[in-house]
Amino acid sequence: MLGELRVETDLFIGGKWVPAESRFDVLDPATGDVIASVADGTVDNALAAVDAAYTAAADWASTAPRVRSEILRTAYGLMTERADELAQLVSLENGKALVDAKGEVAYAAEFFRWYAEEAVRAAGSIATAPSGANRILVTRQPVGVCVLVTPWNFPAAMATRKIGPALAAGCTVVLKPASDTPLTALAMAAILAEAGVPAGVVNVLPSRSSGKVVSAMLHDSRVRKVSFTGSTEVGRILLAQAADNVVNTSMELGGNAPFLVFADADLDAAIEGAMIAKMRNGGEACTAANRFYVEESVAAEFAARLTSRMSALRVGPGVSPDTQVGPLVNEDTVAKVDSLVQAAVSGGATATTGGARPSGAGFYYPPTVLTGVSPSAAILREEIFGPVAPIVTFTSEAEAVAMANDTEYGLVAYVYTTDLARGLRVSEAIEAGMIGLNRGLVSDPAAPFGGVKQSGIGREGGHEGMLDYLESKYIATTW
Ligand code: NAP
Repeated sequence: MLGELRVETDLFIGGKWVPAESRFDVLDPATGDVIASVADGTVDNALAAVDAAYTAAADWASTAPRVRSEILRTAYGLMTERADELAQLVSLENGKALVDAKGEVAYAAEFFRWYAEEAVRAAGSIATAPSGANRILVTRQPVGVCVLVTPWNFPAAMATRKIGPALAAGCTVVLKPASDTPLTALAMAAILAEAGVPAGVVNVLPSRSSGKVVSAMLHDSRVRKVSFTGSTEVGRILLAQAADNVVNTSMELGGNAPFLVFADADLDAAIEGAMIAKMRNGGEACTAANRFYVEESVAAEFAARLTSRMSALRVGPGVSPDTQVGPLVNEDTVAKVDSLVQAAVSGGATATTGGARPSGAGFYYPPTVLTGVSPSAAILREEIFGPVAPIVTFTSEAEAVAMANDTEYGLVAYVYTTDLARGLRVSEAIEAGMIGLNRGLVSDPAAPFGGVKQSGIGREGGHEGMLDYLESKYIATTW
C-alpha cells in the first residue's frame, strides 16, 4: 500500500526497468502487512547488470569531472525537492519514525552534494625521486565496476554514501539493497536517471538470493570492487569471496559503541548526547551507543535522568507525525533485542523503564534502560540494534578505557568530560575509527566514516571516501 508514492518495483538494469521471473513482498514493520511486491533478481539478472555497468564504464570514466559533478548536484536537488515523499517511503518500509526518516533523507542527499564537489578534485601528485634520477607522477583512475551491498537500517543514506563517491570517481555500479528495504533504492535509481546518469552507470538489483547474486558478481572478473555495509558476519563472507579474484574491498561492518561519562562531564549535555547516540533511528544504527559506562559518583543521577527521558518517548507507527520511536524492522530483530534484555535481567540487571515486549501487531520494543548490568553480560558484547541502554559503572579512567576496548568491534565511541586533556587522551586510547567527544552524533558527509578491528576496512564520506573508488597509478619518467 504505497498510497500516492510512485515507486518502480522492477529491477533497474542498463537504464531500463526489467521484470524478473519472480517477485517478493516488502512488509510494513508497523503492521506486518505487505506494502509492495518487488522483482526478485537472479544470478542471470546480476550478470546482466554487471554487463551493463561494464559496457558503460569507459564512457563514464572519461566523462568530464565537471559533467559528473553537475549530475550529482542535480540528484541532490531532486532528492531535496522530494524529501518528504522519500522520507515517507523510508519510514514505510523501514519502520523508523518520520522525523528520523527526514533526517536520513537530508543526510543521504548531502552525499550527492559533497561528492559533486569532490568529483572535480581527484588530484594526483608529482615529485622528484630522492635519487634525482626521475620524476614520480601519480594519477588517479577509477577502480572500475563496483558492487555495492547495503543494509536496511539507512536505506537511502547507505546507498548514496557509496553511489556518490563511486560516480564522482568515474566508477559504474550495481547496487544490491537489503531485501527488507528495496523500495528506497529503486526510488534513488529513478532520481539518478532523471538527474542525467547515463544508462548502465547505476544498476539496482533487489534480490532475496543475496548470497548467490553477490557471489556471482564477485566471481565475474569484470567486477573490481565490492563496498559492503552490514553485519561483520556477512562482511567476513564477502572478504573471503573477494579474495578469489583479488577484488578491492571496503567494509562498513558492525559496531558496539561505548558511551563514557566521566564525573566531570556536563550531565545535561551527556543526557542529550545519550538520547541521540542511543535513540537516533530507534537504536537501529551501527553507531548506536551500545554500552553506557558511567563514573560511579554520577551513575545514579545519570540513570535516573536517562530513564525519565527514555520513558517519555512516544512509540508508534513510523509514519505518524508525532511518533518519536517506530517499530523495529522485523520479527527477528525484536526477538533478538528481547532475548538480550531478558538474559541481562536474569544476570542481575534491573529495567528502570521498558524491558518487556508489548502485545499486539507490529515489531515494537519499548525504550529500555538497564542498570546494574554485569560486565560479562551478552548485551555488552553483541550489537543490540534496538532502543535499549545498558548502564555499567566504573571508578577510574584506566578502567573505563579498558572496558571500552573490551570488544572485537571498533567503529565509534562517545566520551563526555569537561577536561579537554582527558577527552583527547581517552579519544586516543580508545580503539575506534571515530570518537564523539562531547557529541552524540558523528556522522557527517564531509568526514571519514569507518571502523577499525572487526568494524571494517576503509572509509566512506569526506575526501577519503572518494579515494576508496580510485586507484593510484604511478608513472616513472625522466625529462
Ligand atoms: P546484513 O544481514 O549483513 O545484510 C546487509 C546486506 O548484505 C543486505 O543487503 C543483505 O541482503 C546482504 N547479504 C546478506 N547475506 C549476504 C551474503 N551471504 N552475501 C552477500 N550479501 C548478503 O546486515 P543488516 O542486518 O541488513 O544490517 C545491520 C548491520 O549493518 C549491523 O551489523 C550494523 O552495524 C551494520 N551497519 C554498519 C554500518 C557502518 O557504516 N559500519 C552502517 C549501517 C549498518 P538481504 O537483506 O537480502 O539479506
